[in-house]
Amino acid sequence: MAKKVTILGAGISGLATAHWLEKAGYNVAIVEQKSEPGGAMVTKSVDGYLIDFGPNSGLETTPKIKELVNDVGLASEMIYANEEGNIRYILKNNQLLPLPTKPGAFLKTKLFSTSAKLRLMKEPFVGKSDDGYNQSIAEFVERRLGKEFLDNAIDPFVSGVYAGDPTKLSVKSAFPKLYRLEELYGGLIKGMFKGAKERKQRNEESKQHAKMFSFKNGMQTLPKAIAKNLEGRIYFDSIIDKITRRDDKVILDIEHKGEKGHIVSDALLSTIPSHRLSKISDSIDPELTNHLNSIYYPPVLVLFLGYDKKAIKQKLDGFGFLIPSKEQKKFLGAIWSSTIFINRSPKDKAAFTIFIGGARNQDFTVDQAEARIEEVLKEFHTVMGIKGNPELKQWKFWNKAIPQYNIGYIEHERYFQKFESENPGIFLGGNYRGGISVGDCIKSSFENFEKIKEYLEE
Ligand SMILES: Cc1cc2nc3c(=O)[nH]c(=O)nc-3n(C[C@H](O)[C@H](O)[C@H](O)COP(=O)(O)OP(=O)(O)OC[C@H]3O[C@@H](n4cnc5c(N)ncnc54)[C@H](O)[C@@H]3O)c2cc1C
Repeated sequence: MAKKVTILGAGISGLATAHWLEKAGYNVAIVEQKSEPGGAMVTKSVDGYLIDFGPNSGLETTPKIKELVNDVGLASEMIYANEEGNIRYILKNNQLLPLPTKPGAFLKTKLFSTSAKLRLMKEPFVGKSDDGYNQSIAEFVERRLGKEFLDNAIDPFVSGVYAGDPTKLSVKSAFPKLYRLEELYGGLIKGMFKGAKERKQRNEESKQHAKMFSFKNGMQTLPKAIAKNLEGRIYFDSIIDKITRRDDKVILDIEHKGEKGHIVSDALLSTIPSHRLSKISDSIDPELTNHLNSIYYPPVLVLFLGYDKKAIKQKLDGFGFLIPSKEQKKFLGAIWSSTIFINRSPKDKAAFTIFIGGARNQDFTVDQAEARIEEVLKEFHTVMGIKGNPELKQWKFWNKAIPQYNIGYIEHERYFQKFESENPGIFLGGNYRGGISVGDCIKSSFENFEKIKEYLEE
């Protein structure tokens, strides 16, 4: 009889591993607290607009994404960002300046002063740090590239990816590829050339060059299609009570639609957020609970706005803009959603997705949402030259949005590895390990599938 694997969580991490296990002939059961699949991937249609309240896009950094998409019959639904999506703006002194991507544009840009540009040329000659291990991305970038580069490029970029605080995020854990460039090659510029060669050998794409994708009907299309293929094996609306191990089996006590029961399996993979797993991990390992609880997830409010195109002065020719924290605005940045992908708004309208909160706004709560949205609207309208109110305004507050791989994270990761080796058959996955992006989650999901398969075949 096929061996059985239970997976906690029907977000992309859990569903992708379930898909590969199922394809390899294993028997899977997925336990999900909500009544639909997707987790952070939430898409909604309102009045002709298509809203993504979680990820708005993914980067095709691994061939596993396409493989998964093809497997679940979504090849014709997958779409790539318009060319214009490559231009990213940074707000500086209330002006939107394009982030230069080519050497010529870099020399001309007003985003950096002449001395900052000259400073960048010193990068290949900056030595390695003695303490790279305990370094924040802010320290790392300031040391290698200078303060202006940190303030005007990396700080807003970190907000855009992690909604994070660059002075807290660990360069080693949150930006492992950047860290490796210094460790292996002694610098970023030298390493970029050599790293490209290695990636080519692995058939992988760097984040700068990877294609940005979504689906005609939004990002939730993917988890929904995987879930459809796994119909009957997902227990939605379930509460997990307890995990125990007996002999070589893992027993999961759950309450499914009001009824108590248990699932006995040969292996279990958790992909639920660390703070959720910590609620039930005490019975297996109290120290694991401490590590799971130490990972910080900041609050993020996602605000979606729809306008008549005529009301907007700013030319919509880019991905959107990010805001350095020294600009002191009430939001982190805005994606010009209808420029990037088709179907995000009716033809004569424009759609925007704005991000508010993050690790620099730790005390931001849902009670403050309405007041903050009003302040953000004023600032956003000034930047974009918008007159009048949005014709559509929808928002979602994520109380704990994205796990932060802060300084000290490495100790948690070490413990997770120790836990897995001492508790064979129980695996820890999800976006608090191996990267937070959709692409990284899919890559980690495949690695988890391989780990589980190897364990079951032993
Ligand atoms: C606002 C926002 C914007 C983002 N933007 C981008 C982007 O543009 N590009 C990008 O690549 N990435 C982005 N990300 C990150 C990316 O979307 C996530 O890291 C990824 O989707 C996480 O997938 P996951 O399956 O690991 O976790 P989740 O999606 O969080 O899934 C976990 C699942 O577990 C379930 N669960 C929780 N507790 C329990 C329990 N006790 N019992 C049973 N089930 C439980 C949840 O309901 C959920 O379905 C964004 C994330 C957020 C929040």
